[in-house]
Amino acid sequence: MRVGFVGLGTMGGAMAANVARAGHAVTAWNRTPGRATDLGALGVVIAGDPAAVAATSDVVVTIVSDTPDVEAVLFGERGVHAGALPGTLVIDMSTIAPSATRTFAARLGAQGVAMLDAPVSGGSEGAQKGTLTIFVGGETADLERARPVLAAMGTTITHVGPIGSGQAVKAVNQVILAGAYLGVAEGIVLALKAGLDVEQVVTALSGGAAQSWVLANRSGRMIANDYPLGFKVALHRKDLGIALQLARETGSALPIAALCEQLEAGLIGRGHADDDISAVARAIRELSGLEG
Ligand code: NAP
Repeated sequence: MRVGFVGLGTMGGAMAANVARAGHAVTAWNRTPGRATDLGALGVVIAGDPAAVAATSDVVVTIVSDTPDVEAVLFGERGVHAGALPGTLVIDMSTIAPSATRTFAARLGAQGVAMLDAPVSGGSEGAQKGTLTIFVGGETADLERARPVLAAMGTTITHVGPIGSGQAVKAVNQVILAGAYLGVAEGIVLALKAGLDVEQVVTALSGGAAQSWVLANRSGRMIANDYPLGFKVALHRKDLGIALQLARETGSALPIAALCEQLEAGLIGRGHADDDISAVARAIRELSGLEG
């Protein structure tokens, strides 16, 4: 299949590489030239703008930062809409607002272009290994067209409802992550303050009910108080903003998500926007009088 990629950041670059490795003909564009330079060796062709990507693709994947960014790459002057022929399928894999997703799909639909929302979970590791979890909203027939492309990027692909539903599920995912990261951060800080052998604590807990992906994969960063990039604090705060908006629309109370969003706002204000989300432990450390 001819697959276009718009956005070659941490996620998009790795995902485009896996789609190319799966044998699809990939054309790509990134706003800042020179990202994901390894794609050339995989035969990926770099185009001049999103419209040029769309003009040579059956399926166009967009994976950029936030709602206004997706709007820009879809509907900007040389956006996807300007190159896509009727019958083209757009798959937005960014994490953005469910309501805006529905609006974008309606605008594309008016020119005969179909859209799925297919946000992902699994982090930069999942993007590199092709093991992402993908939540898909949209028409069943469009998902079946997209499936060979999605299968190159992820291992768990779930059709969760009509357009926008994938983003709503992703919001749920990010709310759960807020609690998971804050819970592990508090546990690590308590272990440190209590003078325990914290590495031993993590091992001891790994077979019990407190076991989690965050405990297994991110507690080491919290212990070292060093947060090399996996998923940026700034992006998780953006995602919690989406979730809290959905909570307002639905009358849901999300105290942990709201607290996490505020702690992340403080981290961003102190220059940690590009740290990994496990840096919420930095905030809990500081509150507890440990080294920030
Ligand atoms: P990233 O490394 O910061 O890359 C962002 C990408 O979006 C870059 O290619 C950037 O282009 C592009 N972009 C941003 N604004 C743009 C605009 N207005 N016009 C054109 N291009 C624009 O972010 P990422 O980690 O790949 O995340 C991408 C999406 O995946 C986000 O929605 C994020 O929430 C989601 N996600 C990320 C992870 C993760 O672990 N990283 C996990 C799941 C989901 P430039 O290079 O020019 O800046």
